[in-house]
Amino acid sequence: MLKLQGIRARLWFATALPAMLVIALLVIGFATQYGDRVVSVLKDRGVASARQLSSAAEFMLFAGDREGLVRLAQAAMHSDAQLQGVIIYDAQGRTRARAGQLTAQVPQMDGELHVQLLQHMVVAQPIYPTSVGLDDPYAGEAASESQAGAVPHLLGYVVLEMSLQTLDQQRRELLVWSLLTAAGGLVLTGVLASLLAAVVTTQIARINRVVEMVGHGNLSARVDEGRIGVLRPLAVGINAMIGQIAVTQENLQHQIRQATQELRDQKEAAEQAARTDALTGVASRRAFTEAAEAEMQRAIRYRTELSMLMMDLDHFKVINDTHGHVTGDAVLVSFAQTVLQQIRKVDLLARLGGEEFVVLLPNINAEHALALAERIRQAVSSGHLQVDGYPLRFSVSIGVAQFDHNELSLNSWLARADVALYRAKSLGRDRVVLDAGESSSSA
Ligand code: GH3
Ligand code: MG
Ligand code: MG
Repeated sequence: MLKLQGIRARLWFATALPAMLVIALLVIGFATQYGDRVVSVLKDRGVASARQLSSAAEFMLFAGDREGLVRLAQAAMHSDAQLQGVIIYDAQGRTRARAGQLTAQVPQMDGELHVQLLQHMVVAQPIYPTSVGLDDPYAGEAASESQAGAVPHLLGYVVLEMSLQTLDQQRRELLVWSLLTAAGGLVLTGVLASLLAAVVTTQIARINRVVEMVGHGNLSARVDEGRIGVLRPLAVGINAMIGQIAVTQENLQHQIRQATQELRDQKEAAEQAARTDALTGVASRRAFTEAAEAEMQRAIRYRTELSMLMMDLDHFKVINDTHGHVTGDAVLVSFAQTVLQQIRKVDLLARLGGEEFVVLLPNINAEHALALAERIRQAVSSGHLQVDGYPLRFSVSIGVAQFDHNELSLNSWLARADVALYRAKSLGRDRVVLDAGESSSSA
C-alpha cells in the first residue's frame, strides 16, 4: 500500500514552500524599501521647507524685521500640518522669531545643514545672503568678497521640527497591509497546494488500486483513462502493460494446457503400448497380470470359477531356423488369430513372451477350459500358414489350470499351469494337460 498521506504532504510542501518564501521576501522587501522611501521623501520635504523659510527670512534678518520673521514662522506653521515648531535664530544664536513648540534638542549650529531624525525630525538650515550679480548697482563689498571665493557671511538659522506621527502611521499601515497580504497569499498558496496535492494523490490512488488488483491476480482490472487527468499517459502505459501480461498469461496457460494434454496422450499411448503386444496386438504380460489379479479377487468374492490356459508353440525354434525370423513372427500372429477365433469376448489372450501365450477364462471351470484348450489345439494343428507357396503347419502344447480359491498368489496358479504345460511337452507336445495331471488330451 502506497503511503499516500506522505506523498500528499511532500507535494504540499514542494508546491507551497517556494511560493510562501517568494511571498515573504516580496513583502519584507516591499515594506523596508517603501518605509525607507517614505523617510527620504519626508526628509526632502523638511529640508525644502527649511530652505524656503531661510530664503524668505534672509532679508528680514538682514533688515532686523522681527515681526516679519514671526509672521513668516506662523505662516509656515499654518501651511504644513506636520510642522510642530519653527525658530529663526540670528547669527549669534539669539531667537528672532518662534512659532509652535520644539520638543527635541536643537542640533548643532555650525554653519552647515543638519537633519536630526529621532522621534521627531529636526532640520537646522543656516541662512546665508543670496549672492548678487556684478551688474547689481547695490552690490557692496560683500558681493565682491563672495565672488572672490570668500566664505559668505552667516545671517542666522532656521530650525524646524516635523512630526513623524504620520510617518509612523504610514509605516504601521504598511506593516499591517504587508502582513495581511502575506497572510492572504500564504492561505491561498496553502489551499492551492493542498488542492493540487489532493488531485495528484487521488489519481495516484486510482492507479495504485488497479496495480494492487493486478498484483492479486485480477488481470481484467484497468485504470479509467478518462478520469486520470494529467497522469493519463501513465495510465495508458499501465493498461497496456496489464493487457500484455494478460495476453502472455493466456498464451502460457494455453501452452501449459497443450503440453499437459500431449503428456497425457503420450502417457496413455505408453500405457496402451505397455498393455499391448506390439507384434500380435494381443494383451501384454503386464495387462494379463492386472486382469488376472482382478479376476482372482472377483472369483474369491463371488465364489465363481476361473481358469487359465498356458500355451507354448512346439519346436518354434525349428520354424525360425528353417524359415527365418519373419516367418516365425507370421506364425505367432497367425496363432494369436486362431486362438482369438475360439475364445469369448470376456476371455483374455495375452502373450507372455517368445512363443508362450496365456488365456484367462472367467466363469470357466477346469472341465470347460480343457474342452476349449482342446478346440484351440485342434484349430492350430489343423490349420496352416502359406509360406513360399507351401503350407506351413505347426502345433501347440497347452497346460490347463483352474483357479483354486485358496490360492495365495497369481504366481503359484501360473506355476501350476506351467507344470501342466511342461507335462504336455514331455508327453510328446501337440497336446493338452490339466493341472496335477487330472486329465489330458492329445492328437
Ligand atoms: P519347445 O517345443 O520345447 O517349446 O521348443 P521351442 O523350439 O519352441 O522352444 P525354445 O525355447 O527352444 O525356442 C523358442 C524360440 O522362440 C527361441 C527364440 O529365438 C524364438 N523366439 C522368441 N521370441 C520370438 C519372436 O518374437 N519372433 C520369432 N520369430 N522368434 C522368437
Ligand atoms: Mg517356449
Ligand atoms: Mg516352444
